[in-house]
Amino acid sequence: MAKRKRAFPCGHKGYGKTCHRCTQERQAQDHQVLAIAEKRNKKLEWEASFAQDVIDLRGLPDYVVVKARSIIATITHKNYREFGGKRLRHNRFIISIPVTRNYRMLCEDCGTFLIPQKVISHEAYNVCKPGS
Ligand SMILES: [Zn+2]
Repeated sequence: MAKRKRAFPCGHKGYGKTCHRCTQERQAQDHQVLAIAEKRNKKLEWEASFAQDVIDLRGLPDYVVVKARSIIATITHKNYREFGGKRLRHNRFIISIPVTRNYRMLCEDCGTFLIPQKVISHEAYNVCKPGS
């Protein structure tokens, strides 16, 4: 028996019991729905993750947040120099650590450990530096 194209209820024509075009479209749609749900979950997870931070990192670019977290997780016992950190000239108890080219993390020097205070943009950092 020769294969014959048949018309499906959807209006497409093809071989087999079901319309492959519609099946494929449905699968693509399902995939898209899943992808959107996954994206939304990731976004919610990302937003929720800020509650775990010792300092508020909301509103910063994602890559700055990621870098800041890795610094926070590893600065212990004043090895801030390994991160390129410097003492502020006008406040010796504040250490400024470069996060990215454009962001600095300010940390309070508590003697044997540092307490992260905030992450600010390089522009904001220059503004708060007196005499510049
Ligand atoms: Zn169809």
